[in-house]
Amino acid sequence: MHGLMQNMPLMISSLIGHAERNHGDTEIVSRETTGGIHRYTYRDAHRRARQLARALLSLGVKPADRVATLAWNNHRHFELYYGVSGLGAILNTVNPRLFPEQVAYIVNHAEDGLVFFDLTFLPLVEGIAPHCKGVRSWVAMCDRARLPDSKLDLLCYEDLVNAHSDDYEWPEFDERTASSLCYTSGTTGNPKGALYSHRSTVLHAYGSALPDALNLSARDTVLPVVPLFHVNAWGLPYACALAGSKLVMPGPQLDGASLYELFEQEQVTVSAGVPTIWLGLLQHLQAKGLKLSTVQRLVIGGSAAPPAMIRTFDDAFGVTVLHAWGMTEMSPLGTVNTPKGKHLKLSAAERDKLRLNQGRPIYGVDMKIVDDEGRELPRDGKAFGDLLVRGPWIVSGYFKGEGGNVLREGGWFPTGDVATLDADGYMQITDRSKDVIKSGGEWISSIELENLAVSHPAVAEAAVIGVAHPKWDERPMLVVVRKPDQALTREQLLDFMRDKVAKWWLPDDVVFVDSLPHTATGKLLKTKLREDFRSHKLPS
Ligand code: ADP
Repeated sequence: MHGLMQNMPLMISSLIGHAERNHGDTEIVSRETTGGIHRYTYRDAHRRARQLARALLSLGVKPADRVATLAWNNHRHFELYYGVSGLGAILNTVNPRLFPEQVAYIVNHAEDGLVFFDLTFLPLVEGIAPHCKGVRSWVAMCDRARLPDSKLDLLCYEDLVNAHSDDYEWPEFDERTASSLCYTSGTTGNPKGALYSHRSTVLHAYGSALPDALNLSARDTVLPVVPLFHVNAWGLPYACALAGSKLVMPGPQLDGASLYELFEQEQVTVSAGVPTIWLGLLQHLQAKGLKLSTVQRLVIGGSAAPPAMIRTFDDAFGVTVLHAWGMTEMSPLGTVNTPKGKHLKLSAAERDKLRLNQGRPIYGVDMKIVDDEGRELPRDGKAFGDLLVRGPWIVSGYFKGEGGNVLREGGWFPTGDVATLDADGYMQITDRSKDVIKSGGEWISSIELENLAVSHPAVAEAAVIGVAHPKWDERPMLVVVRKPDQALTREQLLDFMRDKVAKWWLPDDVVFVDSLPHTATGKLLKTKLREDFRSHKLPS
């Protein structure tokens, strides 16, 4: 017997409809690509998204067609989120920091018919256009006055929107219909597409707004530093509409000073981004002796948030870090670190230890760890193994079947992370499975060593890689960037680490460099480091 409840499909368009009806005067503020601040409301955004939908239809866009963006976080990109998906087409947000060949690969693989781009990316677009024959139109996200001269026959975003009325009703269709498409960064091999649906997106928005997740409300002002081209800015454009939070979008300026200015000016309460962004903000705050007067929570994810960073934000700035873990294939949120009631009684030192892990799963994400034979390992906080996940906002496969069947028996998706789980549900990543260092048959966690190294006051950033060793197969080597004007020697750093890890975990060598290589999404590019130090001779 079915229940007698209405079967309302979970549509992305219903999020912006809800925001307009109930939070119509709540602001969306963006720093424009061309400078200056743009300010309007959910009501205006919804009107323009409907105008945009009509414009897209007039350009021949049909349900299931792919429409690409190469754009910063701003109001036009936000309108595309709703305009494209709302009419039943698929928004393919492409990461403009990838190599041009990769961008062209994605546009071709996705078969994008239209590409919307911010003016910053005109040279990129002109470079790839000859290799992207399937693109019918390139649309510059600006007004007529700023439309650049180009060898391409560009369309103008504002002309398109203004040429159409907002007299448009969002269609209702199967909630499992594809809504957006993000490619994984692909440090090895070609990028693969994660294809989200209306249902998965709305459920993820519900889940991520929960109190023990990002705790979003109509009292919050949210600034996503995480790009709209990177896993849908961790779902914030949807979750903020659902919660009625004010949105502040930073455009292209992601340096500490520019972010600080927006935080204070717009009274931001919540922000989200990868650790390297927060490193930049902390340096700015400390150098100028500034305080954050309204920020309450910073969501840090994408790679491990260094313990020293979590502590500094809390102790020196009164900001709670929400350490979060996820991946493109998971829409992306999987876990968020928040304490339980019973933890509030813990000593400061015990609480401190607890808040360093990647947190507990949000309802909707099921997790387990397994050994090499696929046998489930105990949830004791000690055993570590391959982390598998399943749930309604986790991929069942990649776009166009790339990579074949990616699920294990029982529908489990292998994350490629190695982790521990404990009886309270807390998960701790010990490594990427390809980064873990295998020394004499035992595993050494590169992340743990990196966290320890960056807790030294003179260290800005650190990476640990495995280097070939005749006796142990691999031994850890530490690559370090010093903070400006800090003297630190190999011996001093090793002495600092010596009594804090097992003896055989201590790196065999320390090398100082000016900077570390990062991927287009801000993660340490360890493949490059391993290549650079392939023939490095360890002193041992
Ligand atoms: P995203 O685009 O959300 O960064 P990717 O798919 O590019 O996701 O990468 C996901 C991987 O990033 C995870 O499998 C994990 O290895 C790493 N990662 C993400 N968040 C964290 C975290 N908080 N701590 C450690 N590693 C993380």
